Amino acid sequence: MIIDSHQHFVRLAKHPEVEGFRKAQLAGQNPDALPNILDTDVKKSLEQVVSLMETRGIDVAFASPRAKAMATHDGTVNQNAIWADLNNGLISRACQLTPGRFVPVGMLGQHPSCPSEQVAKQIDRWAKEGFVAFNFDPDGTGGRWLNQPFTGKHNYPVFEVAQGLDVPLVLHGSESINKNFPHTAVQYLVADITGFVQLMMAKDLFRDFPRLRFLIPHAGGALPCQIGRWRAIAKHNNWASPDEILGNGNVYVDTCVYNDLNMQMLFDAVPLDNILFGSECDGAFPGVMNDETKDHYDNTRRYVDDSKLSAADKDRVYAANARRVYPRASRWIKA
Ligand SMILES: [Zn+2]
Repeated sequence: MIIDSHQHFVRLAKHPEVEGFRKAQLAGQNPDALPNILDTDVKKSLEQVVSLMETRGIDVAFASPRAKAMATHDGTVNQNAIWADLNNGLISRACQLTPGRFVPVGMLGQHPSCPSEQVAKQIDRWAKEGFVAFNFDPDGTGGRWLNQPFTGKHNYPVFEVAQGLDVPLVLHGSESINKNFPHTAVQYLVADITGFVQLMMAKDLFRDFPRLRFLIPHAGGALPCQIGRWRAIAKHNNWASPDEILGNGNVYVDTCVYNDLNMQMLFDAVPLDNILFGSECDGAFPGVMNDETKDHYDNTRRYVDDSKLSAADKDRVYAANARRVYPRASRWIKA
């Protein structure tokens, strides 16, 4: 079995009525009625990704709303809660309309002035609806990084409910209004790097929440090539080392890197038990061709298959690790 742990339903998020709803919200109109998206439209938005999964032999994908559309810096507390519920509702329907194919991962109505108790309630509500994990934006200020580190006590209600319900938090950046940080090329990776280092710095966090788990996408940002730097800084500053937070099962990464060399660096740097297969298929750069492979860049299965890992190790990366780290996913996955 092959599980893709990192997908976003970008085409669904781009439905004109969904985008129109957010636009109206941000214009202060606050529409009473949620957009009425037909089942046929939901299914149609999935055709391309399902076809690519079939071609690539991907059995199941963990799917969440479009990351850019979280736009946690924008809107108001109330608007963002409604916006997250709307997007989660669509993800839930998409997963139910294609049984055995997708597993729902949610977004949260974060906002710089939103009390984390409210975000915690949203996790509780959607976990009861079958969601197995939640994207959490460690910035929340649109690429300006004006908030306190996300690991602080102000977010403890979120961490408490995530640990209690056994749902990992995926540290995922969102829209950037900082023109120096284009969202896919920079802001997401800054969020990965910042997220990983803040988890090293947060001495109390995993003492207070020993079973809390974070997934840091895109191979943990700079982790494969800078783990030595972070080991040194951790020793120098008396932070937790990368090896400690990985080894204790608090932090995991995915395989969202897009060539053989970087995939091999990831496998060399990070323990295999901490790596989950992911591709961002059909979301980050749909259809863009890699001249070396004559295939889409986001067919990350190629790079895993090309690696020197044994068949048993590939099985861990492809499925066993995802099932262990996302225990609630089992109910969505056919045996
Ligand atoms: Zn993503």
